[in-house]
Amino acid sequence: MTERVYLLSEARGLSRDLLGGKGFGLSEMAAAGLPVPPGLVITTEACRQYLRRGAVPGLFEEVRAKMAALEGLTGKRFGLGEGKVPPLLVSVRSGAPVSMPGMMDTVLNLGLTLEGVEALARATENPRFAWDSFRRLLAMYGEVVLGERAEVFEGMLSALKEARGARADAELSAEDLEELAYRYLRHLEARGTPFPMDPWAQLQGAIEAVFRSWNNPRARTYRRIYGIPEDLGTAVVVQAMVFGNLGEDSGTGVGFTRNPATGEKGLYGEYLRNAQGEDVVAGVRTPEPLERLKDYAPTLYEELLQVAGRLERHFRDMQDFEFTVERGRLYLLQTRSGKRTAQAAVRIAVEMAEEGLISKEEAVMRVEANALPGLLRPSVDRDKAPRPFLKGLPASPGAAVGHAVFTNEATERYAAQGLPTVLVRPETTPEDITGMYLAKGILTARGGLTSHAAVVARGLGVPAVVGAEALKVFPEEGRAVAEGVEVREGDLLTLDGGTGEVYLGAVPLVEAAGEALLEKLLAWAEPFRRLGVRANADTPEDARRARAFGAEGIGLCRTEHMFFQEDRIPWVRRLILAETPEEEALALERLFHFQKEDFKEILLAMDGLPVTVRLLDPPLHEFLPPLEELAAKAEGGDEEAKRLLERARAMREANPMLGFRGARLLLLRPAIFRMQLRALLEAARELKEAGHDPRPEVMVPLVADPKEVERARALAEELFQEYGPIPFGTMIETPRAALLAAEIAPLVDFFSFGTNDLTQMAFGLSRDDAGKFLPRYVEEGLFPFDPTERLDEKGVGRLLRMAVEEGRRANPRLKLGLCGEHGGEAGSVRFVADLLDYTSASPFRVLTARLAAAQAGLSLGAPEPA
Ligand code: ADP
Ligand code: MG
Ligand code: MG
Repeated sequence: MTERVYLLSEARGLSRDLLGGKGFGLSEMAAAGLPVPPGLVITTEACRQYLRRGAVPGLFEEVRAKMAALEGLTGKRFGLGEGKVPPLLVSVRSGAPVSMPGMMDTVLNLGLTLEGVEALARATENPRFAWDSFRRLLAMYGEVVLGERAEVFEGMLSALKEARGARADAELSAEDLEELAYRYLRHLEARGTPFPMDPWAQLQGAIEAVFRSWNNPRARTYRRIYGIPEDLGTAVVVQAMVFGNLGEDSGTGVGFTRNPATGEKGLYGEYLRNAQGEDVVAGVRTPEPLERLKDYAPTLYEELLQVAGRLERHFRDMQDFEFTVERGRLYLLQTRSGKRTAQAAVRIAVEMAEEGLISKEEAVMRVEANALPGLLRPSVDRDKAPRPFLKGLPASPGAAVGHAVFTNEATERYAAQGLPTVLVRPETTPEDITGMYLAKGILTARGGLTSHAAVVARGLGVPAVVGAEALKVFPEEGRAVAEGVEVREGDLLTLDGGTGEVYLGAVPLVEAAGEALLEKLLAWAEPFRRLGVRANADTPEDARRARAFGAEGIGLCRTEHMFFQEDRIPWVRRLILAETPEEEALALERLFHFQKEDFKEILLAMDGLPVTVRLLDPPLHEFLPPLEELAAKAEGGDEEAKRLLERARAMREANPMLGFRGARLLLLRPAIFRMQLRALLEAARELKEAGHDPRPEVMVPLVADPKEVERARALAEELFQEYGPIPFGTMIETPRAALLAAEIAPLVDFFSFGTNDLTQMAFGLSRDDAGKFLPRYVEEGLFPFDPTERLDEKGVGRLLRMAVEEGRRANPRLKLGLCGEHGGEAGSVRFVADLLDYTSASPFRVLTARLAAAQAGLSLGAPEPA
């Protein structure tokens, strides 16, 4: 039988899985020679056994044996004082292998009895302290072990304070606290759960309660949310108490070895004089910054600085540690890797590598790639911000201040005067693109993190908060209401797309910092990256931005976005209305010129790099104004509106996502296909003649059958005859196309996996409607994550892997890319890193894709998002 109980000093070399995070940190600190009160660890294995069988035979004997050793180490006896020697008291602390802050229970001052209190009072000559310790034990034990509600004890304390006219606990005398302790004892007795006046019984009760706390509802919920396995169990640390509440030369605090918000090197934290650890957490008194110690306890400050340095050298990461000072002596009680902002993560990783504390490879692995886009944009200055009046989902990071506007028209009006705007909509549709493009921020009442508003905002790099359910928007009336507050056009709003918070008025922002550090980190990462990274970019501006972020070309250029612009949409509508070939030809002729110019600019922005242009994808009726709007105009006698309305009604589809779009549209209206491809080829030819190096590629969306590809290829070949060939590819975004990859591959030069549609069709759900149920699926643990955000490896990933393998076998020269939203999500990028040639991400997400691809290349086992 393996041992299940270890002294901290014997536990060195045992795993974090066995010792739990707290036990592991304490044993490491003890081994590193840092001052840690002696203690013992009961392993997670014992907990698992206990939870399986309800008891662990022999465990308590082992604990007793180790307690004897603890008595030897401290020169005190458990629960029993002798003259000037106070009794040994312990804390019984929970600690899982994975940090679950505050989720399980801890009992302090354990071992005290009515006899022990007297001994403690005698030994410390401080009866108030002794009774205070006892009443704390009674309340904690009463709650954690005996199951009474914490409020009952708090209520009794408040009642006593009121009776004594005391405002703070500190104003209660030793006698008051003694009285309180007796009241607690009587209460527990009366409810049939008497407090055990035997230290060993207390110890056993507390250990078992900590085991059981693994399954309390709070802890279960936390594990579900963070995907922590149910069967880890918690370790228990039993540790000699040290007291921070023995006077002004005592205290307790929390320290960080670097600033967790900015990453700046230096001791950072808080200290509370004459207090016990739980007082800091409970927020009874406001702690002071550690800095203050420099003035009145310079030696302690110096000691803490040295401890911080030793902790970092030992753990090789920024540490978050708990300490207590008992009569001038420092003790460390806990340490763990500190949580930090994305900005701090980059700074800490880079600076630690430069200090030689970690390798550059480790630095690269330590930064959460998904957090990078938020680094480059400002955020709300939380110290100066008022309370937000509204909260939604953090859809696109960055903060924005602007005047509330509710329509494209208003956005343009403000923009013309050089005024910043926040576009407020119930939800957005492709119609809103102008407004979204011009606005500094976007706010919607409905929709999830992959709603149209969210996707487009991220692509544009515009901060956005979506799905703010409390908001009611009335665009026609130019107003919105939320939480009883009305927002009218022109009112100033501030939103933070990194937190989802929305404020009234202009709130101060803090500029993004650390771009130079990020560049350094990415430069270290690049050599490990094998996967190419391109951008999803529809405009020259996006293309330039993406290139600046290191994109190696465009993997997806959506041509329909060009159709939506002000000067083109009338021609698109004429194309839709065309009744004769002549009318169609005229509209296409105009659109040809627009497209050619657009393509030229984009090709130029990506000169020398590949630009994959996707031919028209959405159904044509998306380019018509909303039906209600047309109906109103038609009613008013507008002739064109009447015709449009008629067409719109005729073109209406019950399920446009599965309707007349993509290849289906292009093959049945080949004039559109020819116009687009000719514009691209012509643009490239003109640029080449001017001495540039355009590298266009063309791809067809939404195919489901090789015959479609064959027909499209034939159409393309007609033009290739005239202009010379360019790479011709197809999107793989229907499950059938993935299944028939072997037949499709020989017909094309490349596949581009459109994982948005592939996910929708594989799951049979639409992203526009999934907001109603997907979040609950994730919450209730039916799905581990939202598959519209992160690629589902099991199902969609299987289709992809199969298409890759069979496609490559059928066409060894086949190039493979991914261009869905997943292309900029770190977990998905790591999944495809050795399957594909490139991934394509929205401009700001290019950084994420680069880092994630390098992390995959480093193959150290990439860090999973928490
Ligand atoms: P949590 O996991 O909730 O942080 P802890 O086990 O760390 O719970 O304990 C709660 C508080 O009690 C912390 O402030 C801790 O520093 C303090 N504490 C725990 N054990 C001791 C001890 N042996 N002596 C003094 N303070 C302690
Ligand atoms: Mg703690
Ligand atoms: Mg698609």
